[in-house]
Amino acid sequence: MIIVMRMGASSKEVGDVIKRVEELGFRPHLSAGVERTIVGVIGDERPLHPEQWELLPGVERVVRILQPFKLAGRDFHPDPTIIRLNGPKIADTRPEYPQETSPMPARPQVTIGGEEVVVMAGPCAVESREQIIETAHAVKEGGAKILRGGAFKPRTSPYSFQGHGEYGLQLLAEAREATGLPICTEVMAPAEVPLVATYADILQIGTRNMQNYALLHAVGESRRPVLLKRGMMSTIEELLMAAEYILSHGNYQVMLCERGIRTFEKYTRNTLDINAIPALKQLSHLPVIVDPSHATGKWDLVDAASRAAVAAGADGLIVEVHPDPARAMSDGAQSLKPEKFVQMMGHLKRIAEAIDRKM
Ligand code: PEP
Ligand code: MN
Repeated sequence: MIIVMRMGASSKEVGDVIKRVEELGFRPHLSAGVERTIVGVIGDERPLHPEQWELLPGVERVVRILQPFKLAGRDFHPDPTIIRLNGPKIADTRPEYPQETSPMPARPQVTIGGEEVVVMAGPCAVESREQIIETAHAVKEGGAKILRGGAFKPRTSPYSFQGHGEYGLQLLAEAREATGLPICTEVMAPAEVPLVATYADILQIGTRNMQNYALLHAVGESRRPVLLKRGMMSTIEELLMAAEYILSHGNYQVMLCERGIRTFEKYTRNTLDINAIPALKQLSHLPVIVDPSHATGKWDLVDAASRAAVAAGADGLIVEVHPDPARAMSDGAQSLKPEKFVQMMGHLKRIAEAIDRKM
């Protein structure tokens, strides 16, 4: 249920509504929009009577939310969620979250979910110091704002390269020092969330873990933004319900990532669900990111798929780039060489401008 306050409702009126919500054992969620304030009521609201709430001073109307994703839905939070990186960190003093030892150097702020279309780029996996530093400089040069790279890799075969683990995270941190680019990297196990959160600016949940509820709870408890990838066999609603798990812990910094789904089509690795972009934007306030690399599985389709994603309203892209794709330890076939990445960024800029967005 959401309680829509009248335009110009006083802070006392809003405060009284919040108090009443808490008294009845529900959790209030305040959304102070540009035009009006909305109070969300979280919990099993079935016994509540909307008519009674409409009698409270300052309340305009009360709306039941029929969709099962309440916090992720637009009704709850009509304005888009904007995620800011490289800003001041939210202090987290819990012992399981190690503190940053060195003071954060000044880096340009990155904003996801606003006017700008933000590109994250980098190799599938962090392979060596040279590889990640070289790629970081190359993607920055091309206009990427965030560096991606896996240190903990979910591989289909247990005999494939599994990533360098913490050493890979250290190399990513070195690449961030060298370029100023914030880093996005995958976390696969709840127990590893505090470790990965020490290094990462964005925690990535991979497609195979979209419904790993223990992991969703764990990243919800962290104070880091989360890139939640759509399960390869999951519906749009299931993706939003997975996001709901993270949001329900009070971590509202979630990005939804369309990375292709499984269909009968075998020519491409997956099928990019372009529909999901406007659908997610309609249903949710969370930023939508598209991964054209895993969606296509073929480097020479990545540019066109990215253009389509930006044209359809994606807030950002996450793209695999490798200095020597033929020798990549994972996903070489879908990785762009740096020069192809730069070329693609030029194309995307024109698409972004055509729909009044920046890049
Ligand atoms: C990745 O980003 O390298 C990755 C493994 O992605 P996904 O979980 O979408 O397959
Ligand atoms: Mn990959």
